[in-house]
This record gives sequence, structure tokens and C-alpha cells, in this order.
Amino acid sequence: MSTPRKVITKDKVGILVLALILYDTLSATKKRFEPIRQGEVRMFVCGPTVYDSTHLGHARTFIVYDVLARYLRSKGFKVFFVMNLTDIEDKIFEKAKREKTSYQEIAQRYTEEFKEALRELNVETVSLLARASDYLDTAVSQISRMLSNGSGYIVEGNVYFDTSTFPEYGKLSHQSPLEIMLRRIEPSPEKKNQADFFLWRRIDEHPSWDSPFGKGRPGWHIEDTAISISNLGQRYDIHGGGLELVFPHHEAEIAQAEVLTGAKPFVNYWIHTGLLKVKGRKMSKSLGNYILVKDLLKKYDANTIRILCLSTHYRKDINFSERALAKASNQRNEIAKALIVLQKRARGSKSYLEKVLNIEKKFYRFMDNDLDAPKAIFSLLTLVCARF
Ligand SMILES: [Zn+2]
Repeated sequence: MSTPRKVITKDKVGILVLALILYDTLSATKKRFEPIRQGEVRMFVCGPTVYDSTHLGHARTFIVYDVLARYLRSKGFKVFFVMNLTDIEDKIFEKAKREKTSYQEIAQRYTEEFKEALRELNVETVSLLARASDYLDTAVSQISRMLSNGSGYIVEGNVYFDTSTFPEYGKLSHQSPLEIMLRRIEPSPEKKNQADFFLWRRIDEHPSWDSPFGKGRPGWHIEDTAISISNLGQRYDIHGGGLELVFPHHEAEIAQAEVLTGAKPFVNYWIHTGLLKVKGRKMSKSLGNYILVKDLLKKYDANTIRILCLSTHYRKDINFSERALAKASNQRNEIAKALIVLQKRARGSKSYLEKVLNIEKKFYRFMDNDLDAPKAIFSLLTLVCARF
């Protein structure tokens, strides 16, 4: 990882700070962070589908964005952080059927569990948790607008986004039109192009909602566009989520938003987190290799879990193991000890304070370089090791 450029800038209160540099997936470069509105950052992060308990793979993503939001706050920015909750989705309806209960009960149960997991992990920067079901009218009106401006089409009650009307489709995932053409997303003979995606799906059974296009359910991508444009406007600063969401989810979000508003770019910084793996495979419910946050919290505290998630750079995959967890627990104890020593010696010698200040500078320099938390944590550990 390259050393950050030492760009000096002024925050809203006029304090000199080193500039934060973030890696943006769209431009595939590290860019100096500059918000659209002075002193204010607006960010959106894709949240969970509320049909099951939160596992460590999810937690890693949310901890990273919490650290980003906290870091932006520490630089003097006011941060408005919106996270969506997908509460209209087949997995929720299927689970409700299996458990012979309502989908609302399932969504409510796991929304509460998710909120509890965030609280217990000290993820405290989310300003708004927005449920997709509260934005159905907006989604329907956005789909209607896409139908009237020619970027959407309807076949037998299904509404699709016509990717051929948005030549930049593929710009986030860096795929050529040919590569995009060969991707088989939701295959169906009724689509004009293979890459076209659902805006609205015709569903006759319960639950489904009325719309000008008939009974059905909104597509996953439009649910997020409805939430983000409603709360953050036509353009905002940061959009985040796991790396697996780049295509087609985030690609689709860009296409929808940019044809709806005409404002470009929809988002200035696309930030994606790597996967959390167990023995080389992605931690997931379907593979059965998951560790639930609530189970982990019975043995380890929030700071240990946070250090575990932050000890690998956020863009890289983490290989989870008991050893990595034990190492994180050890580091958490060392840092806690160092902070006690620091408090005791707060009125210590000038040379001691200078050394502490030096470590602090290093900490910020690493964090400014695309949130290099592993190195920042290491610099904190030198507080323990250094002989003052
Ligand atoms: Zn999303």
C-alpha cells in the first residue's frame, strides 16, 4: 500500500488536518476525500435481509463502516449514515411459510436481533435504519418514471430495466459490454437483454402489492434506490457494502439513479469490504460455516470482535480462525493496559508525551491512508512495547 500524499487541508473549524484518502471502486483509484457539502458527509450502506440472525461476516462489514463514520466525525464532519433493511424478500416469505407465521413477524424478530447486535458491537454511528417496506410508494413511482422515460419495459406484468439504454452499465464492476451481455442474471426469454434486471416482479400469491403495473413485489435494487434518493438526495458522498454487491446490485443502483435524476455521478466514493472466510470459503448461512454474533459475544467482548475485524485491511478477505480470535483478544488486552498506563502518566515527562504524540501522529497517518486500521492498531500496540 502506498504512503498517503501529505495533503494539508482545513476542516470546518479551521483545524489543519491531513487529508483522508479512500479507495473508490468506480475509478479504481485512491482519491482524496472531499464531501459534496462542506463539513457534512452523507453515506449509505447496504444492510441485511432480515430473515435470520447476524453472523460475523455481516458484522465485519458494519464494523468497518462504523469505524469510517467515527473517523470522519473525528475529523470534524457531521455524518448522516443511512442503512437499509431489506424486509421484502423471498427468503423472509419462505421462512414465514415454514414457521406458519406472518412475514411481518419474521422481519420484526430479525430486525430487533440485528439492532441488538449493532448495539452490542458498539456500532453506534447509523443515523437511520430504513425499512424497504416504508418506501414502496417511492419505488413504484420511480418504476413508473423509468417506464415513461424508456429505460424500463413491461412484459406480462414484469417490469425490467433495459440495460441497453444505459451505455455505462458495467462501469462500477469494470466489465465490457460483451462481458455484461454474457452474464446470466435472472434468465428469462421475455427479457430484451440478458443483463436486464427486475424493477417489479409479477406475483399473484400473498404477499404482493398493488401497483399501476399489476400485483407484485419490487426488485431488490429499486428498494435501495428508493431509500437512498429519499433520504440522501440525487447525489451523495459514500455508498458502501460487501464486495459481492458490486455486481449486479450496485451497478443496477447506479443505472436506476442516474436515469431517474440525470445527476452524475450518483455517488462520489464506492467503498467495498472484503469477505470473511472460514477455511477459504465465504462465511454464509447457506454453507453452514457461520458464527453468530450473539454466540461470539458470550465468550468475547465487542472490542475483541472489532479488533479481529479491523486487523486485516477492510478491502482484503479475512480468514477467520480461533487463533486469529485469540490474537485479537490478546491485542485488545494489551491496548487496554497501554491506555491505563497512558492515563496514569498523563502528566509524565515531556519526552514521554512527545513519544505518545508521535505514535498518535502515526495512527492518524495510517488511518488517512484508506483506513489502514491494521497498521493503526499496530501503532497503538507500540504504546505497550515502547520503553519510555
Ligand atoms: Zn443495497
